[in-house]
Amino acid sequence: MQRLIFDEDHEMFRDSVRRFMQTEVAPHVEQWRKDGRCDPEVFRKAGEAGLLCMWADEQYGGLGIEDFRFEQVVIEETIRHGDLGLFMTLHSRLVGPYIGRLGSGALKQRLLPKCVSGETILGVAMTEANAGSDLAAIRSRAVRDGDDWVLNGSKTYISNGMIGGAFVVAARTVPDKRHGIGLFVVEEGMEGFNRGRNLAKMGLKTQDTAELFFENVRVPAENVLGDPERGFYNLMHHLAEERLISACQEIAHPQVAFDLTMDYILERRAFGKPIGAFQNSRFKMAEMRASLDAVQTFIDQCVMLHNNGELTAELAAEAKLLASELEGRVMDDCVQLHGGAGYMSEYRISHMYADARVSRIYAGSSEIMKEIIARSIGLDERKLSD
Ligand SMILES: Cc1cc2nc3c(=O)[nH]c(=O)nc-3n(C[C@H](O)[C@H](O)[C@H](O)COP(=O)(O)OP(=O)(O)OC[C@H]3O[C@@H](n4cnc5c(N)ncnc54)[C@H](O)[C@@H]3O)c2cc1C
Repeated sequence: MQRLIFDEDHEMFRDSVRRFMQTEVAPHVEQWRKDGRCDPEVFRKAGEAGLLCMWADEQYGGLGIEDFRFEQVVIEETIRHGDLGLFMTLHSRLVGPYIGRLGSGALKQRLLPKCVSGETILGVAMTEANAGSDLAAIRSRAVRDGDDWVLNGSKTYISNGMIGGAFVVAARTVPDKRHGIGLFVVEEGMEGFNRGRNLAKMGLKTQDTAELFFENVRVPAENVLGDPERGFYNLMHHLAEERLISACQEIAHPQVAFDLTMDYILERRAFGKPIGAFQNSRFKMAEMRASLDAVQTFIDQCVMLHNNGELTAELAAEAKLLASELEGRVMDDCVQLHGGAGYMSEYRISHMYADARVSRIYAGSSEIMKEIIARSIGLDERKLSD
């Protein structure tokens, strides 16, 4: 289906991102999968190519591009020609903007140029062993000491956790207030900051997902993001974009699976004809095509709303829910159409199937997305139970 949201500039940019992925990413994916992380050098190369934190102002080395479609192109080409596990967009557009929008002048001056160049890789650390969906239940604590803050606690499941050089860390600053949370930038080398294991996981093998530990880490005032008691609301403010990013990934991924499967079923034969000739295969592919086109169109519309500053949290939740649920169904059907080959590691579809499973869990699970949407249509459990 022709997509109406891109113009010539986006397509030219797409060509350059595709070339980058084909030369700097694709040849290394197999090794990165074995290593359980990518080589951080790829971030530096992406920085040189102008693909990181494109929104950043020119004074920090950025391009000052706010148009989300350029990031959407990076997401799509990373997934098509590179690998879903390369979390460049997490660095650029999910974490970087916290520093750009809430950081002190000194922090931005020092850190943003390194984020644009890829010298420093970013991550965000919210989740704890006992607090994932329920962010307000976190136990990590930050206590003011003079101008500094002293941070204690631990985080888990943190993407870019091993290769990251700076993390936006959520910690409780007001003990008796559920939403009394602050955001702090913890940097590699700060005393008391340590990494734990690179966690073994089902999919996303090129992505390092780690534990982080903070023991009396002294965070200077310049590394506090915004009001230290309003971090929860600052996080909520960014959630619409975060969920849009997820939705863009979660629709780009099955688009690639569809194409791989199309090639496979036209080539593979059984009972004297291509697998693609069976009615079941044709109908499965037809269903997938129609669903992918519909959800892609919805997400493209959300991208344009976001560019106009009109994307609501509810619409972003709808986009993430629709895309991640469709991704799961498409991956399952695509593996099925590959037969035994679909279960073999040498076929890309087997990795994609495993990689896709997390989409319904992280960055807000499907159940949480449904909660948000239900509340927006007047079905708020708390109000209805009164
Ligand atoms: C690969 C990976 C990378 C990640 N990267 C990061 C990262 O970079 N930074 C970070 O901070 N976190 C990260 N996470 C954590 C992720 O965001 C959490 O796993 C997610 O928010 C879910 O939290 P949880 O695992 O504690 O599950 P839980 O909150 O314990 O949920 C368990 C189940 O209960 C359901 N549930 C929970 N509350 C409700 C409710 N109110 N109504 C109905 N059902 C509910 C959930 O939907 C889920 O099905 C990552 C996770 C993974 C797997």
